Amino acid sequence: MRLLVLGVNGFIGNALAERVLNETDWEIYGLDIRADKLGECLGHERFHYVEGDISINREWIEYHVKKCDVVMPLVAIATPMTYVREPLRVFELDFEENLKVVRLCVKYGKRLLFPSTSEVYGMCPDIEFKEDESHLVLGPINKQRWIYSASKQLLDRVIWAYGFQHGLKFTLFRPFNWIGPKLDEVTTDPEKEGSSRVVTQFISSLFLAEPIRLVDGGLQKRCFTYIDDGIACLMKIVENKDEKLNGQIFNIGNPRNEATVKELATKLKTMFTNDPRTGHFTKHSEIIEVFSKDFYGEGYQDIDRRVPSIARAKEMIGWEPKVDLDTALKKTLDYYLATSLPQTLPVI
Ligand code: UDP
Repeated sequence: MRLLVLGVNGFIGNALAERVLNETDWEIYGLDIRADKLGECLGHERFHYVEGDISINREWIEYHVKKCDVVMPLVAIATPMTYVREPLRVFELDFEENLKVVRLCVKYGKRLLFPSTSEVYGMCPDIEFKEDESHLVLGPINKQRWIYSASKQLLDRVIWAYGFQHGLKFTLFRPFNWIGPKLDEVTTDPEKEGSSRVVTQFISSLFLAEPIRLVDGGLQKRCFTYIDDGIACLMKIVENKDEKLNGQIFNIGNPRNEATVKELATKLKTMFTNDPRTGHFTKHSEIIEVFSKDFYGEGYQDIDRRVPSIARAKEMIGWEPKVDLDTALKKTLDYYLATSLPQTLPVI
């Protein structure tokens, strides 16, 4: 099998590439603007990497859609701060550029594995979100946070329609707060404040001994899913035994790993302060509360709960997540402690 992965250096892309090369005989053709997370994949004989941009390298993409069996367009902005600050960039990249790839799959009759998102459910009041039943509930237009959700939702609908009218073979998957090594860069740049997802944001704050900020009290909840669990499910979706996953949507998340943002902050702080590698820290982050309008701006609106139903993935794929929250956080923190911990206490 030949797999085309656009955005192969991203959090999902690089982890998937590594697993594919280790466990299968599949070939990967990968495009990305950077290669810093690709490690040993880069020298592998079944890994064909090209540095490039999906909005520029159109001919390369068309040629490789034609050449490959399965197409995974993973290029997207997926950080809430960017939805609020640069909503048009989110629309142009996440929707417009990806639509072109979807159309190439239609043109060449290729199977498309598309990353939808748990964000499409928005503020859905259901206890568990179900792929084919839950309503997708978004806020008003002046809350530009929803541009990501709306862009992904419309693409989901377009892909569905191409399946319905033109026989496009596709599977949509919806990651629920996946975490793990190589999630986001741990940054010391104040300009990038809030540009990471919550776990890496908190790890950055701990590394800088700066306050960990709970947005609007931090009682909102998420279900955190360890990357290895998510990738295990994706591998089965790529494999698509007996072609029975075509035309399906799958939530990929861990409903047992639900925690409030506040609990998350406390767990990470405790793990960090108790780690022998942080012995040189003479001061540690406090946990404080901030208003969302000060942290993100007026265009933000939050989601209080987001729990996936994974009944479909269990039934059709035989998949269940295995890694509990504490282990997932520990492994994630461990990676950053090993690669990015400042050796002197930052002076602020
Ligand atoms: N959040 C927070 N402090 C931060 C970053 C995020 O309290 O420094 C909150 C954010 O408001 C949201 C949750 O953490 O309720 C998860 O945020 P994330 O950026 O990971 O993305 P989301 O799950 O909302 O897509």
